[in-house]
This record gives sequence, structure tokens and C-alpha cells, in this order.
Amino acid sequence: MQKEIVMFDVHKIREDFPILQREVNGKPLVYFDNAATSQTPQVVIDAIVNYYSTYNANIHRGVHTLSQEATDAYEIARQKVQAHFNAQHAHEIILTAGTTHSINIVASGFTSLLSSGDEIIVSALEHHSNIVPWQMLCERTGAVLKVIPMDEEGTLVLDTYEALLSEKTKLVFVNHVSNALGTINPIETIITQAHAVGAAVLIDGAQSCPHIKPDVQALDADFYVASAHKLCGPTGVGVLYGKEEWLHKLPPYQGGGEMIDQVTFEKTTYAGLPHKFEAGTPNICGGIAFGAALDYMNAIGFESIAAYEHELLTYATQQLLQIEGLKIYGTSAHKTAVISFNIDNIHPYDVGTIVDKLGIAVRTGHHCAQPIMDFYKIPGTIRASFSFYNTKEEIDALVTALQKAKMMLS
Ligand SMILES: *Cc1c(COP(=O)(O)O)cnc(C)c1O
Repeated sequence: MQKEIVMFDVHKIREDFPILQREVNGKPLVYFDNAATSQTPQVVIDAIVNYYSTYNANIHRGVHTLSQEATDAYEIARQKVQAHFNAQHAHEIILTAGTTHSINIVASGFTSLLSSGDEIIVSALEHHSNIVPWQMLCERTGAVLKVIPMDEEGTLVLDTYEALLSEKTKLVFVNHVSNALGTINPIETIITQAHAVGAAVLIDGAQSCPHIKPDVQALDADFYVASAHKLCGPTGVGVLYGKEEWLHKLPPYQGGGEMIDQVTFEKTTYAGLPHKFEAGTPNICGGIAFGAALDYMNAIGFESIAAYEHELLTYATQQLLQIEGLKIYGTSAHKTAVISFNIDNIHPYDVGTIVDKLGIAVRTGHHCAQPIMDFYKIPGTIRASFSFYNTKEEIDALVTALQKAKMMLS
């Protein structure tokens, strides 16, 4: 591991990302909004350009050469996703429009599997996209939503989770990593305990996948979802991994082309997996580019990525805490390179505006996780989220910019 860190040449990696060469407001861009979306390396941009320049065609239906080339490339991309997540079968990989879409496929499917009085457990650390679909599912079915609470550090209170579990629990939904705080949740324990009462578990991996290579079989996750755009891929594409038995149990989400076997006006039978969940023309180019993004990140290696990002996190935490009045939210020992903070009582939005003038992109607000902000009794935070292409010099630039913002605003 130590050797790999030494071999990690961030300046060389930065050359792979055209956008990192640009300026914002006359200053070199410092991009610290990686938890919202990651930047795109040239190889992924090339995959997109190459698709539209040379073999753009609809898939699975044509006998002509272009359609076959596009179909092959799309199915190879599915296999890359399968290998990356270590799914047992390629047909357990449903290519979707992203995490939100993937979650909604599962939430919608469970409508016919739940009855009044059944229970669904979510965590206090969830993104809105992992709360609202379950609330809607509860409204449709009469199921009851229970919440695993969090503590001051931003970690889940597992004793309460154990107490919430019972034979009434049918589903548990937890993110692998919190987007607002960066906490890495103990999903191994959460999954094992849910299975002990017969509940299925969906893991939202949108925020873990940029840093951790998940093994869905080792985790024994029933469902695992992620978005390509947080992993150096394009927007509008993502993955729903589901265990084969669960994907057979769930009804299709949308009706349309591609997802059928036989259609008559009397009765339609559905296609097998994965097509049952892929109605209509998919994001063909996006899927192919997702595969290219996984190739790119795997070539660098997730162990190197995680080790380098941890170094950035440690450095940034030390440097930011030098600023008087700066408070960090989410201080778990297990977290990814995300720092949520406020300075004195200054509104995060005002700080964000000033640092943007200095070319630095951070996110301000509730980060689609209002319940977490309510817990801390704050309107929002400033969030700096780091990626393997960021540098310590950029962190220094952030600290200088924050000091300037503090002076101007207090
Ligand atoms: C970004 C994110 C989502 C939503 O992903 P989309 O790509 O917008 O569908 C869900 N959960 C977490 C933890 C996220 O970080």
C-alpha cells in the first residue's frame, strides 16, 4: 500500500482531465464539489465522441452492422459493471438513469410485496432520494417507516437499529457513505442483522463508489445502486444491482419496448432479466462511457485512490481547523474525503459565493439531507469533497480563501 501511494502521481493524473486546466473568475479552477458530481477524464469523453462519430445506432433490434456494434459495446459495458461490483450474473446488472431511478424501481416494485403494518427501516443519514420513495411506498401500502438515529459524530446508533428490527421488518435502506458528512456506515453488520429477521437490504452506493470498490456478493447485499456521474462517468446513467431472486420477484417498473417477450391485446409476457427493467431505448452511449470510466478508475486502482484521498482528508482537516470559529460536522473515524463545516454563524451561502469568486467550487446548503441539518440545528453547511485528482496546494488555496471570506463577513 505504502508503495502505491508513492507511485500516485497526481500531477500526471490531472492531465487526464481537460476541465482542470480551466480558470474560473481569472483563477485556476479548484474543484471541491466531487460529492455532487465528479469530473470527466479524456478517455471517457473520447468514448462518447467515438460512439456518436462512428457507431451510433439503436441496440438489440437491428441486424445491421452499426446496431450490432452498439449492442456489443453496450453489453460489454454491462459486463464491466458486473465485474466491478462482483455480481454473480451480468443479468443482475440493470442499467438505469442513475441512483434515484434505481431506488424508484425497487420502491415501486415492493408495492405489491408489502402489506399494511409491515415496516421499512431507513437511516437518519439518508439523501432525500433515499427517503421520499419509501415515504411514497408507505403511503401506497400502509407500511410504516422507522429511522435509525444518528449521534453527534454523524454515526448511526446501531443499538437502536437492532431494537427496531423484528419480523415485521421487510426492508432496510441505508447509504454506504453519507453524502452530507462522509460517514462510512457499517453496512456489513446492518445487512447481517437485517437478514437475521428476513428483511431485504438496499444499499445506496452513490457516495461510496467513487472511493470504495464494493463486492456485492461478499456484502450479501440484496440491492446495490450507484450513479456513473460520481465515478468519472457521464450523467444520466447508473446501476441497479439486484440478486437474481429479488429481480424475479419484483414486477417491471415501466412498460414499453425492449421489456417484453410477447405482446397481444389480451396478454403481454415480459422479457427475462435484465431487459424486464430496461423499457425503451436506454442511454446507450452513457452505458458505454460508464464502462470506460470504470476501466479508467480501476487502472489507477481503488486502493491507491482511497489511500491518497485519506491523505487529503487528514491534511484538509488539520488545515481547516486552524481557522478560528470553524466547526466540522461529521467526525466519525470512518469517513471518506468529505468535510462539512461552518465558520462562526456566517451563512454558508455567503462563504460559498466569496470562494467562488476565487475560483473554488464548494457546495453550500442542506446537501439533499435536511434531516441531518435539523439534527445539528443548522440551515446548512459548506461542503468540500475531495477526489483523487485534487492536491494539497488546492486545499491551501481553500484555507486562504476561507480566511478572506471570514474577514469580509464577520
Ligand atoms: C448523489 C446521491 C444520490 C442521488 O444520485 P443521482 O445521481 O442524483 O440519482 C443518492 N444518494 C446519495 C448518497 C448521493 O450522494
